Amino acid sequence: MHLVVLAGGIGGARFLLGVRSYARERGAEVTAIVNVGDDLSLHGLRICPDLDSVMYTLGDGTDPDRGWGRRDETWTVKAELAAYGAGPEWFGLGDRDLATHLVRSTMLGAGHRLSAVTEALCARWQPGVRLLPATDDPVETHVVVEEGTIHFQQWWLRHRAALPTQRFVFVGVEQAKPAAGVLDALAAADAVLIAPSNPVVSIAPILAVPGLRDAVTGGPAPVVGLSPIIGGAPVRGMADRCLAAVGVPCTAAGVGDLYGARSRGGLLDGWLVDPADSGTAVAGVPVRETPLWMTDERATAEMVRVALEVAGA
Ligand code: GDP
Ligand code: CA
Repeated sequence: MHLVVLAGGIGGARFLLGVRSYARERGAEVTAIVNVGDDLSLHGLRICPDLDSVMYTLGDGTDPDRGWGRRDETWTVKAELAAYGAGPEWFGLGDRDLATHLVRSTMLGAGHRLSAVTEALCARWQPGVRLLPATDDPVETHVVVEEGTIHFQQWWLRHRAALPTQRFVFVGVEQAKPAAGVLDALAAADAVLIAPSNPVVSIAPILAVPGLRDAVTGGPAPVVGLSPIIGGAPVRGMADRCLAAVGVPCTAAGVGDLYGARSRGGLLDGWLVDPADSGTAVAGVPVRETPLWMTDERATAEMVRVALEVAGA
């Protein structure tokens, strides 16, 4: 069995822990197609926050309290940069983490594709899941606010997603192609799972890569999503602000409607919601209630089991 998961950073990483655990018991293969819209360049380095969150989490190298970055991190370089007046002070660039960005940037500079670079970094971390960027081409989420357009990271971290927001733009996406391996993985999938990731800035930029959405919805594999919203609130983070910016209610039904039924030109063959959202209905989509708090791997693996049951896979 081959499972393909569309994933953002922290929510995606936690979900993938459960997918990996489920897959190990059954000898299934897992490919994660990860958002690159959060990527940015700082001090000449290419940084891929979502790929790194997933890689560090699955490689048991992440800081368990922050949920991102490296365990036992130190911040000497950041302090030295600050002494030069060189920011940005709102981006957490840890010393250990920097080594990843140095290796990545050197390899990209030598002409390797991001998918190949990710594979090389994973040789160290052994995530147990194949990690693919959605695209090898540079795509960055920018946010249109009253004063102009800013990078997603600046909107999210510096302004805490609180600036009045007009829309999100995936800069570069029109020219982008699915990364090497993405279309093959989708063609070989027995099921596609949409992680309980941020629908607006993690899942949407993946699906915006030309050809990728069609490969998900046009393939034979059933597509089942899990709600990142429980009881009308994001479990963690500021997805409510992203949903508000695109005019979608911050509810399990709102996100289900945003994805839509595959039978009606949307994405989903099934939608999982938490029992707190009992009674959620999404036109044309079978909705299943099951606990969606990713408290540990076992609880998360159970969500995967239910998702695949709904998928009939
Ligand atoms: P990011 O890129 O680091 O923001 O991570 P993702 O986009 O992958 O995931 C963020 C989303 O994960 C948020 O909208 C949260 O609501 C959701 N999330 C985090 N923990 C849980 C959980 O335990 N259960 C569910 N259902 N969603 C969660
Ligand atoms: Ca992210």
